[in-house]
Amino acid sequence: MKTLLSEQQLHDGVQRMAREIAETYADRHLTIIAVLTGSLVLVADLIRLIDLPMRLGVISASSYRGATTTRGELVINAEKMVDIADRDVLLVDDIFDTGHTLVKVMEKMQDHGPTSLRSAVLLRKAARQEVDYTPDFIGFDIPDEFVVGYGLDFEDLYRNLPSLVALEPIDLVQHHAD
Ligand code: 5GP
Ligand code: MG
Ligand code: MG
Repeated sequence: MKTLLSEQQLHDGVQRMAREIAETYADRHLTIIAVLTGSLVLVADLIRLIDLPMRLGVISASSYRGATTTRGELVINAEKMVDIADRDVLLVDDIFDTGHTLVKVMEKMQDHGPTSLRSAVLLRKAARQEVDYTPDFIGFDIPDEFVVGYGLDFEDLYRNLPSLVALEPIDLVQHHAD
């Protein structure tokens, strides 16, 4: 495994995102919707750095994919989401890769009539974007590698790693031997 972002770098990036978000929503109430499960660690850190009246809800989006780049069908579940009608809403996800996931979740949320809808992602992969949409807040641009840690998984493992690491082919062999 190769460390791409250390705990300190992640902390600094999240602090910068929090500052930008706090400035954008100054004097307003904010509703944050976390896209499960990958954004959990980011959201936990981020919301404690934003001093605004805030509501927090979750939405789940699963595309059933592993380290490969094949995209499965996206299943969105908004049942546990807090009420976002007439609210300033910020959708938070872990990573913007092709962008299809974020765009589909944003479309689903627009149906609920928020006053405003923006997005924040911890990571964006270079040269992978396939949609005509750019997240409003971006923590880091990273190279096109499969990353885990700080909430991101491979087959539901590694979410608890405190830093962000790139999985290499040798790691995958090892992973399947465990
Ligand atoms: P997109 O729809 O933007 O192509 O894919 C976004 C979703 O794919 C992310 O929310 C994440 O679940 C998954 N994904 C994309 N790239 C990576 C990666 O490098 N590592 C991990 N763990 N998940 C990724
Ligand atoms: Mg995701
Ligand atoms: Mg995943």
